[in-house]
Amino acid sequence: MLMNPALSGLRCIRCATLFPPGDYPEGCPSCLEAGHPASLECVYTPSTSSVMPLPVLHPITLGEGDTPCLESAALAQAEGVGRLWLKCESANPTGSHKDRMAAQLVSRARLAGATRVAAASSGNAGVSLAAYCAAAGLQAEIAITRNCPALQREAMQRFGARLTAFEDSLGRWPHVAQLCREQGAFAGTNYLNPPTGTHAYGVEGYKPIAREIFDHCGLPTDVIVPTARGDLLWGVLLGWQALHRQGLIPRLPRMHAVEPYARLSRALQTGDARGLWEAGTDQYSIAGGTTTLQSLQALARSGGLPVEVSDAAAAQAQQRLERMGLGTELSSAAALAAVTRLRRSGMLDAESSVVLILTSDGRRG
Ligand SMILES: [Zn+2]
Repeated sequence: MLMNPALSGLRCIRCATLFPPGDYPEGCPSCLEAGHPASLECVYTPSTSSVMPLPVLHPITLGEGDTPCLESAALAQAEGVGRLWLKCESANPTGSHKDRMAAQLVSRARLAGATRVAAASSGNAGVSLAAYCAAAGLQAEIAITRNCPALQREAMQRFGARLTAFEDSLGRWPHVAQLCREQGAFAGTNYLNPPTGTHAYGVEGYKPIAREIFDHCGLPTDVIVPTARGDLLWGVLLGWQALHRQGLIPRLPRMHAVEPYARLSRALQTGDARGLWEAGTDQYSIAGGTTTLQSLQALARSGGLPVEVSDAAAAQAQQRLERMGLGTELSSAAALAAVTRLRRSGMLDAESSVVLILTSDGRRG
Protein backbone atom coordinates (compact mmCIF):
# COMPACT_ATOMS: atom_id res chain seq x y z
CA MET A 1 0.00 0.00 0.00
CA LEU A 2 1.45 3.37 -1.01
CA MET A 3 0.40 6.75 -2.36
CA ASN A 4 0.45 6.96 -6.14
CA PRO A 5 3.61 8.91 -7.07
CA ALA A 6 1.77 10.21 -10.17
CA LEU A 7 -0.68 12.13 -7.93
CA SER A 8 0.66 15.66 -8.32
CA GLY A 9 -1.97 17.75 -6.55
CA LEU A 10 -5.60 18.63 -5.95
CA ARG A 11 -7.50 21.34 -7.81
CA CYS A 12 -10.53 23.23 -6.52
CA ILE A 13 -13.57 22.69 -8.73
CA ARG A 14 -14.75 26.25 -8.01
CA CYS A 15 -11.68 28.54 -7.98
CA ALA A 16 -9.20 26.18 -9.75
CA THR A 17 -6.49 26.76 -7.11
CA LEU A 18 -3.99 23.90 -7.10
CA PHE A 19 -2.98 22.40 -3.75
CA PRO A 20 -0.23 19.88 -2.98
CA PRO A 21 -1.33 16.26 -2.33
CA GLY A 22 -2.75 15.85 1.18
CA ASP A 23 -5.90 15.65 3.25
CA TYR A 24 -8.54 18.34 2.76
CA PRO A 25 -11.68 16.91 4.35
CA GLU A 26 -13.34 20.34 4.10
CA GLY A 27 -12.48 20.81 0.42
CA CYS A 28 -10.90 24.03 -0.83
CA PRO A 29 -9.77 26.12 2.19
CA SER A 30 -10.14 29.47 0.41
CA CYS A 31 -13.60 28.76 -1.00
CA LEU A 32 -14.70 27.53 2.44
CA GLU A 33 -13.53 30.78 3.98
CA ALA A 34 -15.53 32.66 1.35
CA GLY A 35 -18.62 30.66 2.40
CA HIS A 36 -18.73 28.41 -0.66
CA PRO A 37 -17.71 24.84 0.26
CA ALA A 38 -16.15 23.24 -2.83
CA SER A 39 -14.61 19.85 -3.56
CA LEU A 40 -11.07 19.30 -4.77
CA GLU A 41 -10.29 16.96 -7.66
CA CYS A 42 -7.11 14.92 -7.97
CA VAL A 43 -4.55 15.85 -10.61
CA TYR A 44 -2.10 13.24 -11.91
CA THR A 45 1.05 13.48 -13.98
CA PRO A 46 0.09 12.14 -17.42
CA SER A 47 1.20 8.55 -17.71
CA THR A 48 0.87 5.80 -20.24
CA SER A 49 0.96 3.13 -17.54
CA SER A 50 -2.50 3.78 -16.08
CA VAL A 51 -5.68 4.93 -17.83
CA MET A 52 -7.51 5.27 -14.54
CA PRO A 53 -5.03 6.30 -11.82
CA LEU A 54 -6.16 6.14 -8.19
CA PRO A 55 -4.61 7.90 -5.17
CA VAL A 56 -3.67 4.78 -3.20
CA LEU A 57 -1.90 1.92 -4.97
CA HIS A 58 -2.48 -1.60 -3.62
CA PRO A 59 -5.17 -0.41 -1.18
CA ILE A 60 -6.78 -2.47 1.54
CA THR A 61 -9.38 -4.54 -0.25
CA LEU A 62 -12.31 -6.78 0.55
CA GLY A 63 -12.84 -7.59 -3.13
CA GLU A 64 -14.76 -4.48 -4.22
CA GLY A 65 -15.32 -3.55 -7.86
CA ASP A 66 -15.82 -5.45 -11.11
CA THR A 67 -19.53 -5.66 -10.39
CA PRO A 68 -21.96 -7.25 -12.89
CA CYS A 69 -23.44 -5.16 -15.68
CA LEU A 70 -26.62 -6.90 -16.82
CA GLU A 71 -28.29 -6.03 -20.09
CA SER A 72 -32.09 -6.12 -20.10
CA ALA A 73 -33.69 -6.20 -23.53
CA ALA A 74 -37.10 -6.44 -21.85
CA LEU A 75 -36.64 -3.20 -19.90
CA ALA A 76 -35.19 -1.44 -22.95
CA GLN A 77 -38.24 -2.44 -24.97
CA ALA A 78 -40.70 -1.51 -22.24
CA GLU A 79 -39.09 1.91 -21.81
CA GLY A 80 -38.68 2.58 -25.53
CA VAL A 81 -34.90 3.01 -25.47
CA GLY A 82 -32.29 1.29 -27.63
CA ARG A 83 -30.36 -0.63 -24.99
CA LEU A 84 -30.40 -0.71 -21.20
CA TRP A 85 -27.96 -2.13 -18.65
CA LEU A 86 -28.09 -2.50 -14.88
CA LYS A 87 -24.79 -1.93 -13.07
CA CYS A 88 -25.26 -3.99 -9.91
CA GLU A 89 -23.24 -2.30 -7.18
CA SER A 90 -24.97 -4.47 -4.59
CA ALA A 91 -22.40 -7.14 -5.56
CA ASN A 92 -19.72 -5.25 -3.61
CA PRO A 93 -18.56 -6.85 -0.32
CA THR A 94 -20.90 -4.98 2.06
CA GLY A 95 -23.65 -4.66 -0.52
CA SER A 96 -23.21 -1.16 -1.93
CA HIS A 97 -21.06 1.08 -4.12
CA LYS A 98 -19.65 2.69 -0.95
CA ASP A 99 -17.04 -0.08 -0.69
CA ARG A 100 -15.16 1.41 -3.63
CA MET A 101 -14.83 4.71 -1.77
CA ALA A 102 -14.08 3.05 1.57
CA ALA A 103 -11.17 1.06 0.08
CA GLN A 104 -9.38 4.24 -1.01
CA LEU A 105 -10.40 6.40 1.95
CA VAL A 106 -9.58 3.96 4.73
CA SER A 107 -6.29 3.02 3.05
CA ARG A 108 -5.38 6.69 2.92
CA ALA A 109 -6.37 7.10 6.58
CA ARG A 110 -3.93 4.36 7.55
CA LEU A 111 -1.15 5.75 5.37
CA ALA A 112 -1.73 9.17 6.96
CA GLY A 113 -1.20 7.62 10.39
CA ALA A 114 -4.78 7.96 11.62
CA THR A 115 -6.12 5.45 14.14
CA ARG A 116 -9.79 6.41 13.80
CA VAL A 117 -12.19 7.22 10.96
CA ALA A 118 -15.24 9.33 11.86
CA ALA A 119 -18.35 9.50 9.69
CA ALA A 120 -21.98 10.57 9.68
CA SER A 121 -24.05 7.80 8.13
CA SER A 122 -27.11 5.77 8.96
CA GLY A 123 -26.76 3.35 6.11
CA ASN A 124 -24.51 1.99 3.42
CA ALA A 125 -21.54 4.32 3.98
CA GLY A 126 -21.41 3.54 7.70
CA VAL A 127 -21.52 -0.21 7.15
CA SER A 128 -18.86 -0.01 4.46
CA LEU A 129 -16.50 2.22 6.46
CA ALA A 130 -16.94 -0.03 9.50
CA ALA A 131 -15.96 -3.10 7.46
CA TYR A 132 -12.93 -1.48 5.81
CA CYS A 133 -11.78 -0.03 9.13
CA ALA A 134 -11.95 -3.55 10.57
CA ALA A 135 -9.85 -4.79 7.65
CA ALA A 136 -7.35 -1.98 8.20
CA GLY A 137 -7.18 -2.29 11.99
CA LEU A 138 -8.66 1.20 12.51
CA GLN A 139 -11.50 2.28 14.80
CA ALA A 140 -14.65 3.46 13.02
CA GLU A 141 -16.71 6.14 14.82
CA ILE A 142 -20.10 6.42 13.14
CA ALA A 143 -22.69 9.07 13.97
CA ILE A 144 -26.11 7.63 13.14
CA THR A 145 -29.67 8.92 13.41
CA ARG A 146 -32.13 7.30 15.80
CA ASN A 147 -34.12 5.95 12.85
CA CYS A 148 -31.10 4.04 11.52
CA PRO A 149 -32.41 0.63 10.40
CA ALA A 150 -31.58 -2.21 12.79
CA LEU A 151 -29.88 -4.20 10.03
CA GLN A 152 -27.39 -1.43 9.32
CA ARG A 153 -26.87 -0.58 12.99
CA GLU A 154 -26.09 -4.20 13.84
CA ALA A 155 -23.79 -4.61 10.84
CA MET A 156 -21.74 -1.56 11.89
CA GLN A 157 -21.48 -2.91 15.43
CA ARG A 158 -20.48 -6.39 14.26
CA PHE A 159 -17.65 -4.81 12.28
CA GLY A 160 -16.51 -3.13 15.50
CA ALA A 161 -17.68 0.44 14.90
CA ARG A 162 -18.52 2.72 17.83
CA LEU A 163 -21.93 4.34 17.25
CA THR A 164 -23.38 7.60 18.54
CA ALA A 165 -27.06 8.28 17.84
CA PHE A 166 -28.59 11.69 17.07
CA GLU A 167 -32.17 12.86 16.70
CA ASP A 168 -31.79 14.24 13.21
CA SER A 169 -29.44 14.01 10.28
CA LEU A 170 -27.92 17.50 10.50
CA GLY A 171 -27.20 17.07 14.24
CA ARG A 172 -24.53 14.46 13.44
CA TRP A 173 -22.25 16.79 11.54
CA PRO A 174 -20.99 18.97 14.46
CA HIS A 175 -20.13 15.77 16.36
CA VAL A 176 -18.09 14.40 13.44
CA ALA A 177 -16.52 17.83 12.90
CA GLN A 178 -15.35 17.84 16.51
CA LEU A 179 -13.87 14.34 16.21
CA CYS A 180 -11.99 15.31 13.05
CA ARG A 181 -10.90 18.85 13.91
CA GLU A 182 -10.03 18.37 17.59
CA GLN A 183 -9.41 14.68 18.15
CA GLY A 184 -7.42 13.65 15.11
CA ALA A 185 -10.01 11.38 13.52
CA PHE A 186 -9.85 10.95 9.74
CA ALA A 187 -13.02 12.19 8.02
CA GLY A 188 -14.99 9.38 6.37
CA THR A 189 -17.85 11.62 5.21
CA ASN A 190 -18.70 15.27 4.91
CA TYR A 191 -19.40 17.08 8.19
CA LEU A 192 -19.92 20.65 6.94
CA ASN A 193 -23.24 22.41 6.51
CA PRO A 194 -23.63 23.48 3.75
CA PRO A 195 -21.81 20.32 2.72
CA THR A 196 -18.97 19.52 0.40
CA GLY A 197 -18.09 16.15 -1.14
CA THR A 198 -16.35 13.39 0.78
CA HIS A 199 -12.51 13.33 0.84
CA ALA A 200 -11.30 13.53 -2.77
CA TYR A 201 -9.21 10.37 -2.45
CA GLY A 202 -12.28 8.38 -1.45
CA VAL A 203 -14.43 9.72 -4.28
CA GLU A 204 -11.72 8.71 -6.77
CA GLY A 205 -12.60 5.12 -5.87
CA TYR A 206 -15.75 5.46 -8.00
CA LYS A 207 -13.84 6.18 -11.22
CA PRO A 208 -13.38 2.51 -12.21
CA ILE A 209 -17.18 2.22 -12.56
CA ALA A 210 -16.86 4.22 -15.78
CA ARG A 211 -14.11 1.95 -17.06
CA GLU A 212 -16.10 -1.20 -16.21
CA ILE A 213 -19.17 0.16 -17.99
CA PHE A 214 -17.09 1.10 -21.02
CA ASP A 215 -15.41 -2.30 -21.19
CA HIS A 216 -18.74 -4.09 -20.94
CA CYS A 217 -21.21 -1.86 -22.79
CA GLY A 218 -19.12 0.51 -24.86
CA LEU A 219 -19.91 4.21 -24.49
CA PRO A 220 -23.54 4.72 -23.40
CA THR A 221 -25.44 7.89 -24.17
CA ASP A 222 -26.82 8.22 -20.65
CA VAL A 223 -25.94 7.07 -17.12
CA ILE A 224 -28.49 7.37 -14.32
CA VAL A 225 -27.28 7.72 -10.74
CA PRO A 226 -29.25 7.88 -7.47
CA THR A 227 -27.89 11.00 -5.78
CA ALA A 228 -27.81 12.74 -2.40
CA ARG A 229 -24.58 14.73 -1.98
CA GLY A 230 -23.27 13.48 -5.31
CA ASP A 231 -20.05 11.60 -4.45
CA LEU A 232 -21.00 8.73 -6.77
CA LEU A 233 -22.30 10.99 -9.54
CA TRP A 234 -19.10 13.04 -9.40
CA GLY A 235 -16.74 10.09 -9.05
CA VAL A 236 -18.18 8.27 -12.06
CA LEU A 237 -17.98 11.49 -14.08
CA LEU A 238 -14.28 11.77 -13.16
CA GLY A 239 -13.86 8.25 -14.56
CA TRP A 240 -15.44 9.21 -17.89
CA GLN A 241 -13.28 12.34 -17.99
CA ALA A 242 -10.16 10.17 -17.54
CA LEU A 243 -11.23 7.98 -20.49
CA HIS A 244 -11.91 11.11 -22.54
CA ARG A 245 -8.52 12.63 -21.74
CA GLN A 246 -6.84 9.41 -22.88
CA GLY A 247 -8.70 9.64 -26.19
CA LEU A 248 -10.58 6.39 -25.53
CA ILE A 249 -14.01 8.01 -25.86
CA PRO A 250 -15.03 10.93 -28.10
CA ARG A 251 -17.54 12.43 -25.64
CA LEU A 252 -18.88 12.04 -22.11
CA PRO A 253 -22.17 10.27 -21.50
CA ARG A 254 -24.85 12.44 -19.93
CA MET A 255 -24.90 11.84 -16.18
CA HIS A 256 -28.41 12.21 -14.73
CA ALA A 257 -29.01 12.57 -10.99
CA VAL A 258 -32.05 10.89 -9.46
CA GLU A 259 -33.41 12.65 -6.40
CA PRO A 260 -36.53 12.02 -4.26
CA TYR A 261 -37.63 15.66 -4.38
CA ALA A 262 -36.41 18.88 -5.93
CA ARG A 263 -33.02 19.86 -4.52
CA LEU A 264 -30.63 19.85 -7.44
CA SER A 265 -33.25 21.18 -9.81
CA ARG A 266 -33.81 24.14 -7.48
CA ALA A 267 -30.08 24.65 -6.98
CA LEU A 268 -29.66 24.64 -10.77
CA GLN A 269 -32.11 27.50 -11.10
CA THR A 270 -29.95 29.74 -8.94
CA GLY A 271 -26.57 28.14 -9.65
CA ASP A 272 -26.07 27.95 -5.87
CA ALA A 273 -25.84 24.53 -4.22
CA ARG A 274 -26.02 25.86 -0.67
CA GLY A 275 -29.76 25.78 0.00
CA LEU A 276 -31.63 23.55 2.40
CA TRP A 277 -34.64 21.81 0.90
CA GLU A 278 -35.98 19.36 3.47
CA ALA A 279 -38.81 17.00 2.68
CA GLY A 280 -39.87 13.54 3.77
CA THR A 281 -39.03 10.50 1.66
CA ASP A 282 -38.78 6.73 1.99
CA GLN A 283 -35.81 6.75 -0.37
CA TYR A 284 -33.57 6.52 2.62
CA SER A 285 -30.15 6.39 0.94
CA ILE A 286 -30.69 9.58 -1.08
CA ALA A 287 -32.62 11.54 1.56
CA GLY A 288 -31.51 14.81 3.19
CA GLY A 289 -32.15 18.41 2.30
CA THR A 290 -28.74 19.44 1.00
CA THR A 291 -26.83 19.19 -2.24
CA THR A 292 -23.30 20.03 -3.36
CA LEU A 293 -21.36 21.99 -5.93
CA GLN A 294 -19.83 18.75 -7.27
CA SER A 295 -23.33 17.50 -8.13
CA LEU A 296 -24.12 20.69 -10.06
CA GLN A 297 -20.82 20.44 -11.91
CA ALA A 298 -21.31 16.78 -12.79
CA LEU A 299 -24.59 17.73 -14.49
CA ALA A 300 -23.08 20.79 -16.17
CA ARG A 301 -19.97 19.03 -17.47
CA SER A 302 -21.92 16.08 -18.89
CA GLY A 303 -25.16 17.77 -20.00
CA GLY A 304 -27.27 15.64 -17.64
CA LEU A 305 -30.39 16.55 -15.72
CA PRO A 306 -31.76 16.16 -12.22
CA VAL A 307 -34.75 13.80 -12.21
CA GLU A 308 -37.28 13.82 -9.39
CA VAL A 309 -38.77 10.44 -8.61
CA SER A 310 -41.60 10.10 -6.08
CA ASP A 311 -41.62 7.32 -3.50
CA ALA A 312 -44.64 5.79 -5.26
CA ALA A 313 -42.88 5.70 -8.63
CA ALA A 314 -39.75 4.24 -7.01
CA ALA A 315 -41.84 1.54 -5.30
CA GLN A 316 -43.43 0.59 -8.61
CA ALA A 317 -39.99 0.34 -10.23
CA GLN A 318 -38.78 -1.73 -7.29
CA GLN A 319 -41.58 -4.23 -7.92
CA ARG A 320 -40.75 -4.41 -11.63
CA LEU A 321 -37.13 -5.25 -10.78
CA GLU A 322 -38.20 -7.80 -8.17
CA ARG A 323 -40.31 -9.56 -10.79
CA MET A 324 -37.08 -9.94 -12.76
CA GLY A 325 -35.36 -11.43 -9.71
CA LEU A 326 -33.45 -8.27 -8.79
CA GLY A 327 -33.64 -6.96 -5.23
CA THR A 328 -32.91 -3.24 -4.93
CA GLU A 329 -33.31 -0.67 -2.22
CA LEU A 330 -35.95 1.95 -3.02
CA SER A 331 -33.46 4.67 -3.93
CA SER A 332 -31.76 2.33 -6.44
CA ALA A 333 -35.04 1.34 -8.07
CA ALA A 334 -35.73 5.07 -8.49
CA ALA A 335 -33.15 4.98 -11.32
CA LEU A 336 -35.54 2.86 -13.39
CA ALA A 337 -38.43 5.22 -12.69
CA ALA A 338 -36.15 8.04 -13.88
CA VAL A 339 -35.81 6.35 -17.29
CA THR A 340 -39.55 6.56 -17.75
CA ARG A 341 -39.52 10.27 -16.92
CA LEU A 342 -36.56 11.04 -19.18
CA ARG A 343 -38.16 9.10 -22.06
CA ARG A 344 -41.40 11.05 -21.69
CA SER A 345 -39.53 14.34 -21.66
CA GLY A 346 -37.70 13.44 -24.87
CA MET A 347 -34.24 13.37 -23.25
CA LEU A 348 -34.10 9.63 -24.04
CA ASP A 349 -35.29 8.08 -27.30
CA ALA A 350 -35.18 4.83 -29.26
CA GLU A 351 -31.50 5.37 -30.03
CA SER A 352 -30.45 5.87 -26.39
CA SER A 353 -28.15 3.43 -24.63
CA VAL A 354 -28.72 3.74 -20.91
CA VAL A 355 -26.92 2.44 -17.83
CA LEU A 356 -28.68 2.47 -14.45
CA ILE A 357 -26.47 2.33 -11.40
CA LEU A 358 -28.22 0.11 -8.86
CA THR A 359 -26.39 1.26 -5.77
CA SER A 360 -27.55 -1.31 -3.22
CA ASP A 361 -30.03 -4.07 -2.57
CA GLY A 362 -30.52 -2.78 0.98
CA ARG A 363 -30.57 -6.25 2.47
CA ARG A 364 -26.99 -6.91 3.42
CA GLY A 365 -24.37 -5.57 5.69
ZN1 LIG B 1 -11.59 27.06 -4.24
